[in-house]
Amino acid sequence: MASIFGHAATALTATALIKRKVNRTKLNILAIFCASIPDADVLMFRFGFSYSHWLGHRGFFHSIFFALFLAILIKVIFYNKYKWSGRDCWLVIGFFSLMTISHGVLDAMTTGGRGIAFFSPFDNTRHFLPWRVIQVSPLGAGRFFSEWGIAVLKSEFIFIGIPCLLILAVNKVVNLIKPPVA
Ligand SMILES: [Zn+2]
Repeated sequence: MASIFGHAATALTATALIKRKVNRTKLNILAIFCASIPDADVLMFRFGFSYSHWLGHRGFFHSIFFALFLAILIKVIFYNKYKWSGRDCWLVIGFFSLMTISHGVLDAMTTGGRGIAFFSPFDNTRHFLPWRVIQVSPLGAGRFFSEWGIAVLKSEFIFIGIPCLLILAVNKVVNLIKPPVA
């Protein structure tokens, strides 16, 4: 995994790009939740599922199908006012799907672990992206507070933090030139 900081930074950068008048706190919390929750699948080790099992770490819970399922659940629970036939409903589902998929995409750029089963449960093949530049984060929070954790944060600042800051800066400039409609 990338660390929770890398996933949260990605989520908050994405929500900052949304110009619509929405409940920002709810949006930010749900976006961070989606971008981080796939790693809850480390619990599957405790239930006896191996890393390579389709329900194991970086398996189904890191897939695009889980992302879609989670986004639909979020729409039903938190954005139920949007009708299924309306555009906003599908924008909500699309956005939270992307937030969840962003987790797997960042993981697929890490230096360690196994690849991501993006197409699970239909195809359990594990995938990495060609650019594996992000230092993999330790699985336990305890091990994060070490030299390994510092190396992870440095790597994530370069490969996640700086791109996020650049995107936010460009967004700011664009908003100055063309302010968002209230
Ligand atoms: Zn992960």
